[in-house]
Amino acid sequence: MQRTLSIIKPDAVKKGVIGKIASRFETNGLRIAAMKKTQWSRREAEQFYAIHKERPFFADLVAFMTSGPIVAMVLEGDNAVAKNRELMGATDPKKAEKGTIRADFADSIDANAVHGSDSPENAANEIAQIFAGFEII
Ligand code: GDP
Repeated sequence: MQRTLSIIKPDAVKKGVIGKIASRFETNGLRIAAMKKTQWSRREAEQFYAIHKERPFFADLVAFMTSGPIVAMVLEGDNAVAKNRELMGATDPKKAEKGTIRADFADSIDANAVHGSDSPENAANEIAQIFAGFEII
């Protein structure tokens, strides 16, 4: 059993597809162990994406992730990290496989609908930034 962090980004929340995205997880063997709607401050977004600090798109990424509410989820299941990445599709929705969340709901590489942890170690760090232990059931 493994845990990963999923975030429904501001573009998908604005489109009203929270339920459709959550349903993809539930119907593909990922249990929602915690769920929270919030809006990040600039500081929270900068901290969350600290590993991308030196990348040219960092400022745009922080601006986008603070532009509206997000929905964070802890997903639990066998191979949860890889399974979630598979369901998400490629970072650039134009390159994402048909039937993936990004192919179906994302507009661009910035507004790409979802975030998903890329390793179990990063998942644990990311989950701890958003959820207290008692909120994960
Ligand atoms: P992910 O794990 O598939 O989300 O991709 P990364 O960890 O590489 O990048 C984190 C996020 O930064 C992505 O989801 C995009 O929103 C954004 N991003 C990545 N690459 C680019 C890029 O080349 N340009 C822009 N504008 N944003 C990017």
